[in-house]
Amino acid sequence: MHRPLPRNMNVFTSLTDKLFSKKNNFDFSAPLCPLPERLDLASMSRVMVFAPHPDDESIGCGGLLALLAQQGSKVRVVLVTDGGGAGGLPAGAAQIRQQEFIAALAVLGIDEWRMLNFIDGAVDVNAALEQALLNSVMDFSPDTVIMPSMLDLHRDHRAIATALARCSTNLASVTKYIQYEVWCPLPATHLVDISAVADTKWAAISQHQTALKCGDYLTASQGLARYRGLLLGKPGTDAAAEAFVAETADEFRLQRQHWLASTARHMLS
Ligand SMILES: [Zn+2]
Repeated sequence: MHRPLPRNMNVFTSLTDKLFSKKNNFDFSAPLCPLPERLDLASMSRVMVFAPHPDDESIGCGGLLALLAQQGSKVRVVLVTDGGGAGGLPAGAAQIRQQEFIAALAVLGIDEWRMLNFIDGAVDVNAALEQALLNSVMDFSPDTVIMPSMLDLHRDHRAIATALARCSTNLASVTKYIQYEVWCPLPATHLVDISAVADTKWAAISQHQTALKCGDYLTASQGLARYRGLLLGKPGTDAAAEAFVAETADEFRLQRQHWLASTARHMLS
């Protein structure tokens, strides 16, 4: 059962027009199955990571963070919520999860973090969130922002991604935006081979014992990494990869309407 589309969904309707118009036949001269590009880590020297909850940093991009730490990049991870569990965890869980977050970062080789303490499960796209994200970026002046995805199924993740998109015109230092996948696989544009640091990623996820009692995120992450590893083209090995949507600042701003339309499509189906 589908709800009718609102009349003012111009972006959405133009997108579907493009997808289904008879004028847009398949281009058979295009590559049969183009693979995502490899992410260029060398150009990432100051990296700010936004984690909605404790564990997202390890599940979404733990391998990438371990590699960045190894190459000497300056990495700061911002935990946006308090990690209290949105009513699903006992009192005091937030403090325990924050310690697990710090321990996971230590495993990844990162000792710079900040906590914004928004309420877990109640993150809204408003001026307070946008200002907090803006202040975080301006305090660190990263060249790269790593963030949750516009398409994530979790509302907190989408709210943070949307707020970052809204204030991105004011984030002058940032030249690259990278969205990671947690609750929804992405139409990946870029890959990182994490085979050499896979055990480090698993060890970081294993620090999140509170979360692991609620779901087997370790096995799920290992499965996703092996699936993404297929795209590395190393048959017969234990290749593991992380997948991302990586865009320049201009692409990120231009694509914003596309991403918002995609999220709207998800919400309307
Ligand atoms: Zn999360």
